[in-house]
Amino acid sequence: MTDLTDRLAAGGTLSDDEWRFLIEGDYDRQLLFDKADSVRRQYYGTDVYIRGLIEITNFCKNDCLYCGIRRSNANVLRYRLADEEILACCGQGYALGFRTFVLQGGEDSYDTTDRVEKIVSRIKENYPDCAVTLSLGERPRRDYEIWYQAGADRYLLRHETAVCSHYEKLHPPEQTYLRRMECLRDLKQTGYQTGAGFMVGSPFQGTQELIADMRFLQEFQPHMVGIGPFIPHHDTPFAGESPGSLLRTLTMVALTRLTLPKALIPATTALGTIHPQGRELGLKAGANVVMPNLSPADVRGQYSLYDNKVHTGKEAAEGLLLLKESVSRAGYRVTVDRGDAR
Ligand code: SAH
Repeated sequence: MTDLTDRLAAGGTLSDDEWRFLIEGDYDRQLLFDKADSVRRQYYGTDVYIRGLIEITNFCKNDCLYCGIRRSNANVLRYRLADEEILACCGQGYALGFRTFVLQGGEDSYDTTDRVEKIVSRIKENYPDCAVTLSLGERPRRDYEIWYQAGADRYLLRHETAVCSHYEKLHPPEQTYLRRMECLRDLKQTGYQTGAGFMVGSPFQGTQELIADMRFLQEFQPHMVGIGPFIPHHDTPFAGESPGSLLRTLTMVALTRLTLPKALIPATTALGTIHPQGRELGLKAGANVVMPNLSPADVRGQYSLYDNKVHTGKEAAEGLLLLKESVSRAGYRVTVDRGDAR
């Protein structure tokens, strides 16, 4: 195992069998997590970066089969935040010590090129020392460019799976793998610090799919990688599927840290949802970012991507003190810093 992880960390390539062994083989995972942790410490010490996550809308024109806010779900109480509400969230976040704001949402046609441009400009005007991350899905390249010009620094768009035939099983025909990949390339070329990522344990995913995800990361070299377990939502076609496992998710986080030593890797909300210590375990397996929820408290329950999504206590921006304590118990330190990619 150690010769494989050493080769990975040195930027080497692995065969299918070698990847398969690292992902599902019978070996001591703690050794893998420790190795990932030591690589993370080499570049980032014990720093944990925090991002205030503002879920600006749960309207969505897409119909991803796994997602609770897909357009076919008529049981969602839809909301969208007004400009002033988004700005107010940033104000509260700034006071708490956040220096990155992540604006995430469904693909909402109300979020026109102009509207998002104005919001980004206003946030950057009010908080010039902060980074703005957007996560608003697939858009024409021109939108990405205009928002970048307005001051957006980063963009999160998970690739979801790097196998085309698998992508097609998770999405309706009008959402294509090629378009997803094209958007990711557009984002990187525009100049964004770009985030990719995937779910672990999504329906129809096998080890071969995860190997493809790892190879895609090696080739695309994203600055950020979001990895969380798939969690079923009761109002989706995948309601009856099993969730992704904690151990498999931690394994993929650790392998991602070894593959991309300098990446910013969040210990995701989904990880915190499947296990009470999920976020801390993620940090110990190589993650170095947490994204507490900074949305107005009354809408948090409506951004229901999957069942039981946590949004209180240390998952909430106002619970930052709790989060700081639990991060320091895990052996790390929350820092007030934009936390840009190295
Ligand atoms: N519309 C934006 C934001 C999507 S929500 C976009 O397309 O990028 C952010 C991420 O949540 C998705 O990329 C997906 O990987 C994850 N997600 C959605 N449903 C999920 C589920 N049921 N279980 C786990 N993660 C899920």
